[in-house]
Amino acid sequence: MSVTTLPDELSEPARAFAGREHELLIDGAHAPAADGRTFETLDPATARPITTVAQAGPEDVDRAVQAARRALENGPWRSLSAADRGRAISRLAGLIEDSADELAELEALDNGKPVKLAKLVDVASSVAHFHHFAGWPERTFGETIPVRQPDMLCYTRKEPVGVCGQIIPWNFPLLMAAWKLGPALAAGCTVVLKPAEQTPLSALRLGELALEAGMPPGVLNVITGDGETGAALVDHPGVDKIAFTGSTAVGRDIGSKTGRALKRVTLELGGKSPNIILPDADLDAAVKGSFQAIYYNTGQACNAGSRLFIHRDQFDDVVASLAARARKTRVGRGLDPATQLGPVVSAEQHERVLSYIEAGRQEGAELVAGGGAGEGEGGYFVEPTLFTATDDSLTISREEIFGPVLVAMPFQSLEEVAARANDSEYGLAAGVWTRDVGSAHRLAALLKAGSVYVNCWAASDPGAPFGGYKASGLGREHGREGLEAYLETKTVWTSLA
Ligand code: ADP
Repeated sequence: MSVTTLPDELSEPARAFAGREHELLIDGAHAPAADGRTFETLDPATARPITTVAQAGPEDVDRAVQAARRALENGPWRSLSAADRGRAISRLAGLIEDSADELAELEALDNGKPVKLAKLVDVASSVAHFHHFAGWPERTFGETIPVRQPDMLCYTRKEPVGVCGQIIPWNFPLLMAAWKLGPALAAGCTVVLKPAEQTPLSALRLGELALEAGMPPGVLNVITGDGETGAALVDHPGVDKIAFTGSTAVGRDIGSKTGRALKRVTLELGGKSPNIILPDADLDAAVKGSFQAIYYNTGQACNAGSRLFIHRDQFDDVVASLAARARKTRVGRGLDPATQLGPVVSAEQHERVLSYIEAGRQEGAELVAGGGAGEGEGGYFVEPTLFTATDDSLTISREEIFGPVLVAMPFQSLEEVAARANDSEYGLAAGVWTRDVGSAHRLAALLKAGSVYVNCWAASDPGAPFGGYKASGLGREHGREGLEAYLETKTVWTSLA
């Protein structure tokens, strides 16, 4: 693939990396797939290929798992002190920070998101995650238990769960890798990381940076490929734990396979998150926040606020303000600095989102803004779209769209809206806009969601647990709970008699 087809805005480092024909990163070395298969990764802003990437098959998965096993059991990673493990993670954070422009450009190119946001959010939060988890190795230890038996010493050890298969999605490719790698590396695990086939570039670069940071070969292996590669990783008997972020359908499948194999598993899945504007809210802040809640990242966020409940007294005003904002939004290529909303990631998603918009129209929701495919160079653009509806059972009110499509619905009372908000198979996030502390915390307690945002949306911190109720997932990421998901507890009994 000639690098001359790459967009002009790319800096030299990003251009050089993106233009390479990419191989797998196994045991510290680049290698093609055993059967030589490759696939193309596309620029969603133009639908043109960026470059080719190796497609890992079962043989490559096996090689990667074996490399991770060796690094876990025999390599220097195991004998590194907790402090040195923390330092290696810290060095990785530093290298990501040093490569911030390159990584942001790779993300904008491969995923389509605005480059400024990629740097401010994806890259900066990835750095924060690694810095946070760099502090955990030295703060992770067992306990001495005051057991009833006399002359008995009983203590616990916190040990790494083992070889982890980490499968990540395309919406925040670098950041989702950071969310998974931070706690795994802090716990002393080794990893086989599989980025999404739509967005493999930043994870491949991250794998190189981990080696540069002094992580021994085999500690982080990056294998590129599609769902088949992911399934081979889930099925591999040498994998002790699977961590997955992606669709609920694939999550169910992984949950059932890991259940049968009794592998450890954490799943971060879909959502249809309710966002509630109470009558006493600061409406300017609520409109601004609710707009971001759905349209940020072109609606491609598992915790997007995609069901908006507005008190009926303010319904028309809030809808009018949101529609005005939607019409003003600049949709375009992620590498264009003026762009506010990039394309969706792929032809498949484009078709899927547009078919949901069509379903909204057909089922009688009122289209207030957007609704069309944006224009430009054959890219996968969708206008920010706003529907109003009074019927909670419409397809667009119930199913996860994963695109820039919001459905606004009026409500009358707090109890009513809590019940309607909870009437979903999902439970990832929920939001409340109000000036009344009592209503805020009554709703925070009533809403069945892993995160509740009061007068904000999608606030996040490496130390604050994130994950889903119900079909939105299993387990939590971030902070102590996120770390625990990568640890086994061993109880040691010693008779002193
Ligand atoms: P989406 O439908 O939004 O692309 P997926 O859940 O299909 O989301 O994909 C998320 C990640 O899971 C990607 O890395 C993808 O390659 C991987 N994946 C897809 N299908 C499977 C599967 N059956 N087993 C394991 N991983 C899979």
